[in-house]
Amino acid sequence: MKDVQGQHIVVIGAARSGIAAALLLAKKGADVFVSDYGQISDQAKQKLEQAGISYEENGHTDRTKSADFVVLSPGVPTEAPIIQYYLNEGKSVYSEIEAASWFTDQKIFAVTGSNGKTTVANWLDHVWNTADRDHALAGNIGVAFSDEIDRNTGDFLLEVSSFQLDHIKDFKPAVSMILNITPDHLNRYQDSLELYAAAKFRITENQTKEDRFIFNYDDPIIQKHVEQLKQIQTAPQLWAFSNENEVPQGAFVRDDYIIFKFNDKEEPLMPTEELGLRGRHNLSNGLATALAARAAEIKNEIIRESLKTFTGVEHRLELAREVDGVKYINDSKATNVNAVWFALDSFNVPVTLILGGRDKGNDYSELEDQIREKVHTIIAIGESKDRVEAQLGKVAPNFVKVETMGGAVRAAQKVAKKGEIVLLSPACASFDMFDSYEHRGKIFKDEVNKL
Ligand code: ADP
Repeated sequence: MKDVQGQHIVVIGAARSGIAAALLLAKKGADVFVSDYGQISDQAKQKLEQAGISYEENGHTDRTKSADFVVLSPGVPTEAPIIQYYLNEGKSVYSEIEAASWFTDQKIFAVTGSNGKTTVANWLDHVWNTADRDHALAGNIGVAFSDEIDRNTGDFLLEVSSFQLDHIKDFKPAVSMILNITPDHLNRYQDSLELYAAAKFRITENQTKEDRFIFNYDDPIIQKHVEQLKQIQTAPQLWAFSNENEVPQGAFVRDDYIIFKFNDKEEPLMPTEELGLRGRHNLSNGLATALAARAAEIKNEIIRESLKTFTGVEHRLELAREVDGVKYINDSKATNVNAVWFALDSFNVPVTLILGGRDKGNDYSELEDQIREKVHTIIAIGESKDRVEAQLGKVAPNFVKVETMGGAVRAAQKVAKKGEIVLLSPACASFDMFDSYEHRGKIFKDEVNKL
């Protein structure tokens, strides 16, 4: 536990996590000041005022520069001049999860990766619920870690982004997990996959021999870093999961059966077809979840039960509705090409694919093989529809451009046949037409409900 009594701390960024950190640090006796480059919401202001925390908005004045150290909200880039000012002064800059971790000794299960974090975090929550274990689900996920510090008396199940990991110092999970590493957000890492991967691996940097690191054995970038980790004396125990290979220690699949392997002893767990979620990526997610549960000493019987009964998270390959024998699937959270690849990989019936939105420089050609095999119609929406057309216009038999989500859903209904799938899996951000990916998914479902 760190003593922050009387320390002058400035919290930069008054979004959800920033506010939560400010409230927690003030409660622990720090002298806190909050500063935001933009506007602070009325609700946030009210919370700060109730806690007697002063703040400023619409820019940083000199008051922002007087801290002993800074805590930043995950949305604030390291390049922001105010953060650079502190770094140049040789003062510390911490993320919200780092600050929150000072005030708990409870076990932290922290999951990161490019895709699947929310799915796994929620799956863990389901396992812990099934096992009737005291815990809190927090992190990047609606409730900040700081919010739960004084409420939760059990384990912490945390979804952690690489931005949060960029500014840790002592953050030490009992169990850390990296699901996969694929290019996304590279702009924040000087376009270097190496730097991005290194940022994710910081999740292990304070772990010691009694801790565990759960990782994807099939991911070459992760493998490379694990080799480096093995050189470190105090490294955590390495538990691998794999869809494709048998692992030395961890969880793998043999003849469609999930098997745990610890200290050269195999324990058959369950058939893969019993998993609650479909698709190869969700098999990986399920294996990762199972290992974390095992690390928490949850019984195999409960793990099996909760891997079966999980029904998934909204906007991730979510069945919206079946109309005339056609299943409409909402995968609005697929904001990069890799997620769409795995979405397509999950189905073996013909697909009508709704694709497009705000493009971060996507290379859609990675989808060509999957599209040739399964997709008969691409329906392009949003800002990137011309780019999608340029790259994929001739790959599927039919290509349609539409202006609205309603138009996309109606166009899909015209071409999809009984037994087939209509899949919204955009590969893009939503901000060209919607407030968020949740909003996009909701409008899709509303339109499907009108059919
Ligand atoms: P995150 O929280 O990391 O963004 P989500 O669980 O919200 O991940 O899933 C984001 C998107 O990625 C969804 O479209 C989902 O179907 C897909 N996805 C989930 N797990 C994986 C995985 N292990 N590998 C690749 N894609 C995945």
